Amino acid sequence: MIYPPDDSITTLSLGPESLPMRKINTRNFRLATRSTPREVNRRIVLNLIREYQPISRAELARRMQVHRGTMTPLVRELVESGVVFEKGTAATARGRRPTLLCVRTRGRLVVAVDVRPGRSVIALADVSGHVLARDAFDTPDSPAELPELLATEVASLLREHAPDGVEGCQGLGIVLPGMVDRKTGRLIYAPRLGWRDVDLRSAVAQRVGMRCYIESAPIACALARLWLEPDATRAVNSFAYVSVSDGIGVGLAFNGEMLRGEAHTAGEFGHVSLDSSGPECVCGRVGCWEAMACNSATVDRYVERLTGNVQPRNGTAKRAARGAIRPGIDEVVRRARGGEPAAVSALVETGEHIGKGLALVVNAFNPGRIFVGGEITAVWELLEGPIRDALAAGTITDRTRATPVVPDSAPAEYRLRGAVALVTAPGYAALAVG
Ligand SMILES: [Zn+2]
Repeated sequence: MIYPPDDSITTLSLGPESLPMRKINTRNFRLATRSTPREVNRRIVLNLIREYQPISRAELARRMQVHRGTMTPLVRELVESGVVFEKGTAATARGRRPTLLCVRTRGRLVVAVDVRPGRSVIALADVSGHVLARDAFDTPDSPAELPELLATEVASLLREHAPDGVEGCQGLGIVLPGMVDRKTGRLIYAPRLGWRDVDLRSAVAQRVGMRCYIESAPIACALARLWLEPDATRAVNSFAYVSVSDGIGVGLAFNGEMLRGEAHTAGEFGHVSLDSSGPECVCGRVGCWEAMACNSATVDRYVERLTGNVQPRNGTAKRAARGAIRPGIDEVVRRARGGEPAAVSALVETGEHIGKGLALVVNAFNPGRIFVGGEITAVWELLEGPIRDALAAGTITDRTRATPVVPDSAPAEYRLRGAVALVTAPGYAALAVG
């Protein structure tokens, strides 16, 4: 049988909530020994089906370089367990019509939660990240209130949209604007929420009665690129995912695995200062990338251009200023799409600031590609030019200047898809061998 070469296997503990996850490279694996756990081979077959679906058994055997007889029992197990299903037929030159294998998504549900300052979003999605229903709720001031609140929200969502209730759900994924210790499930620090060192995962799992996964939003979004978008990642397993929302976070994937750092702070580019005379940041410093390019910075710029008034820069005054005249980022994006000059120019400047920060990411990490997620990517045509110019100005070789920068295809749901990936990825990830 087959398993990935050593450099694409990671050692995993078996607690599902704490699995480090490495993507199996479906273009580079080799025959396994007899002692290889059956589960490893099963996962390789599952990954191949996921990546190349719909795929016939003959094509699968060809890609695995094994006889069909070796592969058949593994496929049968996957079909019997309901993870894979057979659909339709494919015409062949000789006229035989084999059934095709696909990964089952229907009826396999995930609860996804995107926690943000102010309002959070909860959604019911299938395992491929397709959102079926969503609702919003006020983010509590204290993290201690979150488990009870989520229990109520989950119950109401399942009552309306999931006939099998908790039984039909694979788990609950939560993305947060902060650093998370993946092993312990503790939220280390979320500056914009003011939450620090709290054991959210077990508290929520206990209260909701469902397996729970929590992760920093940009890391979860990068996982979604790895696990929910097979086409996009065929060519690139080393990339940066930049989430532009209330803050800016960067998730770094290297050879199909997330880079987290010794203290779970890898990718914290958001608080690198780009301008010593820039606006004050929530972290207390001045001119941070995040303070220049996050959604509230864009809205501030827009309001300034519209009214001629400089917006208050410190947090308290800004909260007080949030009133009738201050639109949300979606509204600024909408007005930019309609060609309103103040909105267009505010977003063009946001593009410049994003590009300056991307140059930092490229110089530090040299990713094969950068994905940008956020509400603002709905006007990518305004951002792309300034982003590319600033990236070119801030990097030093032709190759790094040419780093592809690609908007996430789901501006309204990119973080929810990240939350879904937290739940589904462990089922596909590489297992340790021997
Ligand atoms: Zn900062």
